[in-house]
Amino acid sequence: MHQEFNLDNLNIEKNENPHPKPTPETNLGFGKYFTDHIFTATYKRNQGWHHFQVKPYSHLHMDPAACVYHYGQALFEGLKAFKQHDGKIAIFRPEFNSKRINAGCQRLDMSEIPSELFVESIKKLVSIERDWIPEGNGKALYIRPTLVGTEGFLGVRPSDEYLFFILLSPVGSYYTSGAKSVRIWVETDEIRAAPGGLGAIKAAANYASSLHAAAKQKKNGFDQVLWLDAITKDQIEEVGTMNVFFVLKNEIVTPALNGSILPGGIRECTLKILRDWKMPIVERPITMTELVSAYKKGEFKEMFGTGTAAVITPVGELMYKDLPMMLEANDSSLSSKLYKEFTNIQYGVIPDRYNWLTFI
Ligand SMILES: *Cc1c(COP(=O)(O)O)cnc(C)c1O
Repeated sequence: MHQEFNLDNLNIEKNENPHPKPTPETNLGFGKYFTDHIFTATYKRNQGWHHFQVKPYSHLHMDPAACVYHYGQALFEGLKAFKQHDGKIAIFRPEFNSKRINAGCQRLDMSEIPSELFVESIKKLVSIERDWIPEGNGKALYIRPTLVGTEGFLGVRPSDEYLFFILLSPVGSYYTSGAKSVRIWVETDEIRAAPGGLGAIKAAANYASSLHAAAKQKKNGFDQVLWLDAITKDQIEEVGTMNVFFVLKNEIVTPALNGSILPGGIRECTLKILRDWKMPIVERPITMTELVSAYKKGEFKEMFGTGTAAVITPVGELMYKDLPMMLEANDSSLSSKLYKEFTNIQYGVIPDRYNWLTFI
């Protein structure tokens, strides 16, 4: 069903009890604060997308039999809006997230969100909440578009009704005092995703399957876990919220997309930048066996993760079985150069040479 979207006559219900905004001193963290309004849109099989609303942030009202509660039809996205040094507001690649959520809709048999609706609703909500965008390096307004099946019906089939909503959360820098490197545990028992499964889409279900191992290793002092492939448990896939890159003696490697790795936006941009910098970057399968052997020969130089939340995260330690692999991360590391490049583009310090920014 093709639909035209005109969000000009969007129904806006103002929040009469707005929250005080965080001050520049507030430790924002990640996802702790939410703005005063959300965007919602409703889909019904025979009506298409309708009922576009901006309304006060509040609890959602849903049928206890809603598909999402029982059969987990849920997808989400994550992107950011930045307040640039000259006051302009830039959203990083919303079209990319629009395509990715729709790829998820196909796999989970959910109603796709027309890209116009996706992008325009984000722009509208961010514009209404512009005073919530924190200023300063590393700070941003995190945008969380979410799609859930809402039909109240316990028969097992895809929902005929959906709710699309967008939350906004001012977030801080992961790098309060320079690049903080993380400790990663290589998970050899549980798996996150399998071939033919949901790993390549941003389904809430992938997070459900990853929380247990991550929480367990958190108690042991690790920040996140690195997931291996479901079959050989040797091929490296990714971290729960980040794609990974390895700097080896003669090349930079990131695991090739294999159907169970989430195709990250920052991963795609990192590949582009590294190719432009004429660095020896390759996408190919890479195993723990190879990595351990490179480490023992002193040829495993650096590892970092890529993802919207922290952009580039250097890894200081990778723990595999009983071998802790200790890695360097300092100002001259590749991760540090990439982090600077990304933030310079996002905050408008250097020209947006790839057209990654959408201004509102
Ligand atoms: C969201 C996500 C990423 C990072 O994707 P970006 O688009 O770069 O933010 C990586 N891995 C998983 C499993 C994710 O859900």
